[in-house]
Amino acid sequence: MVKKKIGQNFLIDKQVAEREVDYANPNKEDIFLEIGPGKGIITKLLAKKAKKVIAIEIDSRLVNNLESTLPDNVILINADALKIDFKSLPAFNKIVSNLPFQISSPITFKFLNHPFSKAVLIYQKDFAKRMVAYSGSKDYSRLSVGIYYKTHCRILETISKNFFFPVPKVDSSIVELTPRENPPFTIVNEKFFFNLTKRLFGHRRKKIKNILEDVYNKLEYLPYLDKRVEELRPEQLGELSNLLFKINHQPKSM
Ligand code: SAM
Repeated sequence: MVKKKIGQNFLIDKQVAEREVDYANPNKEDIFLEIGPGKGIITKLLAKKAKKVIAIEIDSRLVNNLESTLPDNVILINADALKIDFKSLPAFNKIVSNLPFQISSPITFKFLNHPFSKAVLIYQKDFAKRMVAYSGSKDYSRLSVGIYYKTHCRILETISKNFFFPVPKVDSSIVELTPRENPPFTIVNEKFFFNLTKRLFGHRRKKIKNILEDVYNKLEYLPYLDKRVEELRPEQLGELSNLLFKINHQPKSM
C-alpha cells in the first residue's frame, strides 16, 4: 500500500531516473546522499556509477524490501531524514533525491547547512519556481533568499506528473544546487539574517516598519521601512539585517 501522507509518488520512468543521476556527473570517487530511496529506482543507478550511496528511508516496509535488492556499496538507513544528524552519517559530497514533497522546505534548509559540492533534486514544479524566484514576483519567498545566498540554483527540466505512480496532482522539476564558494553579499550574523527574513516573509503584505516596530528600537536609522519585503532584493535584505543587528547589538556605553 502506498503512503501518500509521506510523499510516496514513485518515479516509474527509467530514462528520467537516468537523467536525474547523470546531471550529478557521478564518478567512482563520489559518495551520495539520497533521501527516500523508495523502491530504489535512483539508488541502483547511483550505486553503479558512484563509490557509495547513503540512502535514508523512513518507511520500514520499503527498507525491508530494499535490503535484499541493493548492492553492497549502498548504506541503507531506516530513519526520518529531518531528524537524523547529517554529521552522524559517513561523509558524503553529493546529493541526489526525488524528494517527498511534504518535507521539501525543511530538508532543503537542512541541506544548505551542510557541506556538499552538488545536489540534483526533484521537487514539485511550484516549489522549484519559488526556489529561483526574483524579488517583485509572487513566488519570491524566504526560500528564494536562502537559496540565492547559499547556492547557484537552476531548474534543469520539468517532468510530467505521468512519470510517477500514483500520479500526483502537479508536474515536477529537476533542480540543480551548487553551493557558492563565497556569499554574494556580506552578512554580519547569518542566524539573525535568516530569522529576520522568516519574520518579514511571514507578513509579506505589511510594510517593514509595521512588522519591526514591535520588536526593535531605533528603527529611524534604517532604510526600506516603507517597502514590503517582497520588493527587496536579497542584497537589500542583507543590508537591512546588518544595520538592524548592529543597532540592536551595540555594547552599552560605560
Ligand atoms: N526515490 C524513489 C523514487 O524516485 O521513486 C521514491 C521517491 S518518493 C517521492 C519519496 C520517498 O521518501 C518515499 O519512499 C518515502 O517513503 C520517503 N520519505 C518520506 N518522508 C521521509 C523522511 N522524512 N525521511 C526519509 N524518507 C522519507
